[in-house]
Amino acid sequence: MGETGSMRTHEPASDFAAQPLPPVSAATRKVMQANRRRDTGPELKVRRFLHARGYRFRVDYGRLPGRPDVALPKHRLAIFVHGCYWHRHGCGRGGQPRTNAEFWQAKFDRNADRHERNAAALRQLGWRVVVVWECSLRDVEGAMAPVLALLRA
Ligand SMILES: [Zn+2]
Repeated sequence: MGETGSMRTHEPASDFAAQPLPPVSAATRKVMQANRRRDTGPELKVRRFLHARGYRFRVDYGRLPGRPDVALPKHRLAIFVHGCYWHRHGCGRGGQPRTNAEFWQAKFDRNADRHERNAAALRQLGWRVVVVWECSLRDVEGAMAPVLALLRA
């Protein structure tokens, strides 16, 4: 196995650690904590799915821009498993912080910008980039069908 898995939260690491966070309401804090915990689950689903089909991959691959959650070097495919809360998926899972809404909106916007920059950098290096959304993994087969198509292409 090419796995180097480690426990980590799924939120984009760089600016979260860099600055103290403003207070949020107790309810929002609860949602955030629950989302951070839950966000490790979707990655596991993706990894199990690929592993069961014999694909070799690297986890949390720091040598590539954006540190893809799952990277398949042989196939030049980088998979980002996006938590719907931190990456503001249109499905609306998790809601919106109301306290310091502007701060959080700016942070969410930075997450999106950073992802776009990283995806562009990866493509420049000849990698294909695919995003798998947390909510779509309720149907793992369905969520992974486009990934399999890319792997077989
Ligand atoms: Zn979603």
